[in-house]
Amino acid sequence: MIRMHMNESPYDFPLRAKLKVTLKALFTSWNRYPEELNHEALNELSLYTGKNAENLWLGNGSNELIRLAFLAWGDKGKRVLMISPGFITYEKEAARSGCEAIRVPLKNDLSFDRTVFLDEVKRADLVILISPGNPSGESLPVNFIEKVAGKCPGRVLIDEAYGEFAGESCIPLIERHENVVILRTLSKAFGLAGARIGYAIGAKRTIEELRKVSLPYNPGFFSLLLLKEAVGRKRVMEKRVAKLRSERARLIVRLKKSPFFTVVPGEANFILVREKTPESRQALLDSLDHERIVPRVYENGPLATWLRFTVGRPRENNRLLKAVDSVQRRLS
Ligand code: PMP
Repeated sequence: MIRMHMNESPYDFPLRAKLKVTLKALFTSWNRYPEELNHEALNELSLYTGKNAENLWLGNGSNELIRLAFLAWGDKGKRVLMISPGFITYEKEAARSGCEAIRVPLKNDLSFDRTVFLDEVKRADLVILISPGNPSGESLPVNFIEKVAGKCPGRVLIDEAYGEFAGESCIPLIERHENVVILRTLSKAFGLAGARIGYAIGAKRTIEELRKVSLPYNPGFFSLLLLKEAVGRKRVMEKRVAKLRSERARLIVRLKKSPFFTVVPGEANFILVREKTPESRQALLDSLDHERIVPRVYENGPLATWLRFTVGRPRENNRLLKAVDSVQRRLS
């Protein structure tokens, strides 16, 4: 099976690095709480991000940090503004917390009304923006996000889970806007989805608010060792990201030529493809099945006509293109 439905990296963490971390784990005291290691991991992350340790907070994946953000700023009665549909954890957290969720809908072309959004921002306790977006893959301009931060009386969470695959980051905004918090993860570009490591970047006061609602000693020692190793060898990640970006460009160029599909030129590690006719969707699903490719299928809403594919290794992407070509042959 070729997993193209979860936006994971197709590249596993390097074996050499796995061995090094495993060896380090053997010489770590498993009977002790990992405060010291957490300290060291934050310092390493500080070197990687260029931010002080007091501006950083770690979580068991960015999913845990999303939970913390809702606990801190999106509780019962709070107004949480988001674009819908978006990433599922935000919907789940909104339902769990009992906040008042204000949803600005994605249109059929996957854009949203920015004027309406900016108007709602003025009354929000928590604003959520995903950039590059999941599912759209599109990056929001930093000046738009800065406008949001300037108008919002509450906190502005920018989810940059796919930030390494895109251009400009919002991280510099934390210097000018105390209400901005950025979430990042090692699950995507670093190929460590199984390790569950995410981090938040924000002003000292904002990070302190996340710390207050977090549980002690997360993440565990093994994740901390992996984090240190991963950011310490960031060149491996950068090379892989460059490869995936060029593969993404190759897929987009090829799919744009197809008379049966439309493709969104996103900036994350996935692409969104829409059928031009209902027969082409079914034909593609059949061909994908034949190539043993698992796409992300959306059941309903404005995304129901789209399929999402995580960019894979070149040979996996070739299989995807083979599936698309076979639709063309069948329907022409
Ligand atoms: N944010 C977005 C936008 C995502 O797509 C994902 C995972 N698919 C996450 C956060 C969560 O990632 P993790 O918990 O693995 O860090």
